[in-house]
Amino acid sequence: MTWYTELAERYGTPLYVYDLDRVAAARRDLLATLPDEVDLFYAVKANPHPEVARAVRGDGRVRAEISSTGELAAALAAGFDPAGCLYTGPGKTTGELHEAIERGVRTFSVESLGDLRRIGAVASRHGVVADGVLRINSASARATTSIRMTGAPSQFGIDSETLPALLGELSSVPGTRIAGAHFFPLSNAKDEASLTAEFQHTISLAAQLHEELGLPLRLLDIGGGFSAPYAVPGSRAEYEKLRVELENELDTYFSGWRQGGPRIACESGRYLVGDSGTLLCGVVNVKESRGRRFVILDGGINTFGGMSGLGRLLPAAVRLDGETPTETASLVGPLCTPGDVLGREVEVPALRTGDVLEIPNAGAYGPTASLLAFLGRPAPAEVVVRGTEVVSVSRLEYHRSYGEPA
Ligand SMILES: *Cc1c(COP(=O)(O)O)cnc(C)c1O
Repeated sequence: MTWYTELAERYGTPLYVYDLDRVAAARRDLLATLPDEVDLFYAVKANPHPEVARAVRGDGRVRAEISSTGELAAALAAGFDPAGCLYTGPGKTTGELHEAIERGVRTFSVESLGDLRRIGAVASRHGVVADGVLRINSASARATTSIRMTGAPSQFGIDSETLPALLGELSSVPGTRIAGAHFFPLSNAKDEASLTAEFQHTISLAAQLHEELGLPLRLLDIGGGFSAPYAVPGSRAEYEKLRVELENELDTYFSGWRQGGPRIACESGRYLVGDSGTLLCGVVNVKESRGRRFVILDGGINTFGGMSGLGRLLPAAVRLDGETPTETASLVGPLCTPGDVLGREVEVPALRTGDVLEIPNAGAYGPTASLLAFLGRPAPAEVVVRGTEVVSVSRLEYHRSYGEPA
C-alpha cells in the first residue's frame, strides 16, 4: 500500500492530497524562470485552500490575485497582505468593493469605465484613492504573426482601440488614479515560444500605449499562461529561455524597469499548484453496457472538474499502484446525470470494486471549480501533507442559511 492509498483508507474517498513540498518546488521553479525584479500574482481561484495558498505566498514576492470576497477571505487567511492584492473581475459589485476596500485592498483591475466609476465611488466613501490597473483587450494579434487581426469581443478588459478616446475620462474618475495596465490574453500556453511571443507582444503594446497616449504605468501586469498538466500524467512545462527573453524585451521598451519604473508582474494559477494535488477516488462498481466498460467512481464532477460540467470534458487519466493500463473504459462519477464523466474511453488498468484510483495533477481547479452542491453529496476531504507529514485535514461545507441574504 502506498502512502496515498493509506491516506485514502484513513480519511475515506474521494480525497484530495496536496503536498506543500511540491507547491514550494513549483513556486521556486516559476520564480527562477522570471527576472528577479518581476513580481508574481497567484490566481487564488486555482486553489484557495489556506495552507496551499500560504505555501504559494512564501516570503512575499508572490501576491494574491482575487476576484471575490470569498477569495479575499482565503487570501487573508493565507497571510497575503491586502494592500498587495490585485482585485479582478468584470462584475465587481458595490457591496464587494466596499468589503474589499474596508479590508485594505487598494489595487483593482479595471474592466470598463463603469467598473472604474463604481470603484471610485466606493473608494471616495471610504476617503481613500484606489489604484486602477486598466485591463486591456488587445486589438492586435501577437507580434510574431504577420496577420493583424482584431481582438475578439469580450466581457474582459477595455478594447485597446477605444483607449485614445476613453483615457481622458478614465483618468478623471474621482476616488481613483490610473496605476498601470493589466493583460491576460492567454492561459496554459502550448509551448515556450507562444508564451514568449505573447509576452513580447504585450510588452511592446504597453510601451506603445504609454508613449502614444500617456497611459500611466507604475504597474505593468503582463499576465501569464504558464502551463501544467490537468488530470493527466506529466510534468510542468520548463521555460529555459523565457527569463533572458523577458529581460531583453523589457530592456528594449522600459529602460527603468529594473528600478521599478514600471514595476512588472506576471500571473499564475495552475503552474503553482497543479502538480501538488492528487485526487483519490474509490471504484464503486465496474459495469459493461453494450460492449463498453464503465468504471463508476465515488467522485465525479461534484468532486473534480466542474469544468466538464461546463462542457469541457476532462482528459482524466488514472494510476493504480504501479499497474499498467490494459483496457479502455469511461470513468464516471456517482451523479444521476449522463454528464458526470471524468474521462471518456480512457486507458485504465483492470479495475475492481474497492480499488482506489489516483488522478494525478489535480491540485488546480479542484473542489472549488466543481459542482459541489449538485446532488447533495458531501464535498471531498482535503488532506494537506508535507512529504510524509499530515499538516491538515478538512472538508468544505455548504449549508442553507435562512433570512440572511440582503
Ligand atoms: C484564471 C486567471 C489566471 C490563472 O490562470 P492559470 O491558467 O491557472 O495560470 C490568471 N489571471 C487571470 C486574470 C485569471 O482570470
